[in-house]
Amino acid sequence: MFEDLSSKIESAVQTLKGQSRITDVNIAETVREIRRALLDADVNLDVAREFTNNIKEKVMGSGVLTSVNPGQQFTKIVYDEMVQILGETRSDIAVANTPPTVILIAGLQGSGKTTFSGKLARYLKTENNRNPILAAADVYRPAAINQLKTLADDIGVPVYSIEQKDPVRVAREAVSMAKSLALDTVIIDTAGRMHVDEQMMNEVAEIKKAVNPHEILFVVDAMTGQDAVNTAKAFNETIDFDGVVLTKMDGDTRGGAALSIRSVVEKPIKFMSTGEKLDALSPFYPDRLAQRILGMGDVVSLVEKAQKEFDEQQAEKLQKKIKSDKFDLNDFYEQIQKIKKMGNVADLVGMIPGADKALQDADFDEDSFKPIEAIISSMTPEEREDPSLLNGSRRRRISKGSGTTVREINELMKQFDQMKKMMKTMSKMNKAGRAMQGLK
Ligand code: GDP
Repeated sequence: MFEDLSSKIESAVQTLKGQSRITDVNIAETVREIRRALLDADVNLDVAREFTNNIKEKVMGSGVLTSVNPGQQFTKIVYDEMVQILGETRSDIAVANTPPTVILIAGLQGSGKTTFSGKLARYLKTENNRNPILAAADVYRPAAINQLKTLADDIGVPVYSIEQKDPVRVAREAVSMAKSLALDTVIIDTAGRMHVDEQMMNEVAEIKKAVNPHEILFVVDAMTGQDAVNTAKAFNETIDFDGVVLTKMDGDTRGGAALSIRSVVEKPIKFMSTGEKLDALSPFYPDRLAQRILGMGDVVSLVEKAQKEFDEQQAEKLQKKIKSDKFDLNDFYEQIQKIKKMGNVADLVGMIPGADKALQDADFDEDSFKPIEAIISSMTPEEREDPSLLNGSRRRRISKGSGTTVREINELMKQFDQMKKMMKTMSKMNKAGRAMQGLK
């Protein structure tokens, strides 16, 4: 995410750190480089200017030049400023005092509205225990209605749609339906067009008037940079939305939209979407994104994701197995499934401090696990429990069954052995560490 911007800012700051003495001339040069990096990332000119002016002002007023660790202090100032323009704190979506809460989703065609509507329904259902209904008010494209129905099926949420091309009626009736079924949330997916036009705006405005939504979310494709900001401005003038959803943050986005949109339209970013899958959605945390952009990683999100998949009891059981040398290929397979559930692997790597750059060229995705899964699946239960059974002929059989080569199997077994050893050492170190703490 934002690799180019990240590396340019980091290299600007690095140059500053390398100076034996920092002067206001050095600072001015570094700030200029940062501004160039922002503009290259397609950040709005006014936003970039304000960003760098604020940094300069804070640096000059804070005694950074004479401090013990000017490089670090400078980074902190850049970080604070970045959090500021991203919105400072997390913004939640509204909840109606009297249900149902009505959420209207607007944006251009292809921005990811329908996908987001499904993701939001899933998110509210699984994270907030809500019972949503989706309304298919994108009535002109039968494909959009079907897409919404498929998404809804996957997450077990009802969809309201009708044959007539009357989006206002769909929205209104979906709200009545929610009331009669005692559902607490209505998510209305509206029609978009390729460009901002009057008819689209009128339609969204009419739906807004008819159902009086508690929350209007504007969905925008983060890959479109400055265009995203201009579209957001146009939508905001007509429908006065409450928050922004940035989609396709997993793509090759340079960062311009994310960094400019809040300052330009003065509305918070509430969610970001990082993939096509239904669980690739997260609330927007300005501080975490700033940390990622500045190469500090995003440990908080990583730990949160891990905590969801690994509970303490299971962890203890696993520990015991490791200690008694009973960690086998079944356990290994199970761990891979858990890592996969945590989300896109490349995205996880991006959250590890300092790892983003080192690993960004590595072709890391879910497919990397496929051969491993195929190999383990082709083994018999006995072989998975006791890999020492795997002699040459068994390996040849597994290679045929899994469509892999014997070499790949050998490689995997070697890695598995190394991993086992490493885990055992780590578990001993943990024990030693705990014992020492006990002594203190
Ligand atoms: P709509 O026309 O605004 O309803 O857009 P869709 O929801 O149909 O999305 C358009 C395309 O973008 C589809 O192919 C989606 O799978 C894809 N898409 C949506 N959100 C994301 C995302 O966060 N990341 C990626 N990579 N693709 C996305």
